[in-house]
Amino acid sequence: MDIHEYQAKELLQKFGVGVPRGGIAYSPEQAMYRAHELSGERCVVKAQIHSGARGKAGGVRVCSCEKEVMEAASWMLGRKLVTHQTGPQGKLVSRLYVEEATDIRQEIYLGFVLDRKEERVVVVASAAGGMEIEEISANEPDSIIRSVVDPAVGMQNFQAREIAFQLDLDPALIPAAVKMITGCYRALRELDATMVEINPLVVTGAGEIVALDAKMAFDDNALFRRPDISELRDKSQEDPRETYAEDRGLSYIGLEGRIGCIVNGAGLAMATLDMIKMAGGEPANFLDVGGGASPDRVLMSFKAVLNDPNVEAILVNIFAGINRCDWIAEGVVRAVQELDLDVPLVVRLSGTNVAEGKRILDDSGLDIATADTLAEAAEAVVAAWKTSITAEEAV
Ligand code: GDP
Ligand code: MN
Repeated sequence: MDIHEYQAKELLQKFGVGVPRGGIAYSPEQAMYRAHELSGERCVVKAQIHSGARGKAGGVRVCSCEKEVMEAASWMLGRKLVTHQTGPQGKLVSRLYVEEATDIRQEIYLGFVLDRKEERVVVVASAAGGMEIEEISANEPDSIIRSVVDPAVGMQNFQAREIAFQLDLDPALIPAAVKMITGCYRALRELDATMVEINPLVVTGAGEIVALDAKMAFDDNALFRRPDISELRDKSQEDPRETYAEDRGLSYIGLEGRIGCIVNGAGLAMATLDMIKMAGGEPANFLDVGGGASPDRVLMSFKAVLNDPNVEAILVNIFAGINRCDWIAEGVVRAVQELDLDVPLVVRLSGTNVAEGKRILDDSGLDIATADTLAEAAEAVVAAWKTSITAEEAV
């Protein structure tokens, strides 16, 4: 789960990380009031969306009078901001963060990520902050510092000091930098975050170190024990297809293709995506219905798949161990009837109660193609999809 910049700053502040003063606003009037409260000469209006690179898309504006705040806020609110991270559909701006302007002397990159290969938290830092980490690694790869944290002892002060020295910071700033780095690490561990990124971390003209931007992501599987973090969720920033499925306890990941998939088991679901590709199609999603799926749950899975307007054919692939093919078949029949399914459907059932499952599909009298093996099913759904789109083009 991702959160907004202002939420991350609020959390990090509790761990001793310095951030500029600021306040949230939902309207241009509120933004002006916030700017007035800060009472500095200049302030920064920042669009709160779950994406980086807002600056280049017009989502970060330094303002020197209330009129400019009004203009920036009116322009941003209600707009779908498109950055190179949001995809072409963009993300809706419904909150702004108004912050006191900072006099920037130096911009630094500081990130904490899980390195799956190392099975450790890795600190990534660079004196070439301000640009995205991808750009830094392309333009200034030698500036990147990597430091692996030993989970048995956590981030030690000496390790943070080493990072600070490698960043070539003014020696007078080292203690503040150490406090910043260890604070971020403690926040990551104690809040079950999977990522903390401060870009840029800045040295101000007055010689202070502050986090000018902050990004945090959290482990979804740990949210049950972090109610304060769960509350920060903003569904309006998520893929609506995934929100629908997640709210119903389905494992669903949206993809870009046309063939919707309903499968049991994560491994079989992955294999199904591969088989569809090998047959010349592109999957629209990953979906694992889980074990012991009831007819209701199967119906719900169809709804989740059909929430995606790109879906032009559906493949159901069940290898029933804990599941029951008759329940799955009942769910399939109900879905076709209740949802007025108008895309080709191929069902492959195997395992527990398969004969009963096939009988239910046959007896329904509905137009449901069946297959015995995964390979046949993948071939069949891609062929049916191709036929149906050619037929549509001919109309
Ligand atoms: P991002 O584009 O989504 O990563 O948003 P950031 O919060 O990182 O802001 C983008 C850039 O705007 C920063 O790298 C800074 O160069 C600039 N910026 C942000 N806040 C301030 C500020 O208070 N003063 C000045 N002068 N520049 C700022
Ligand atoms: Mn940034």
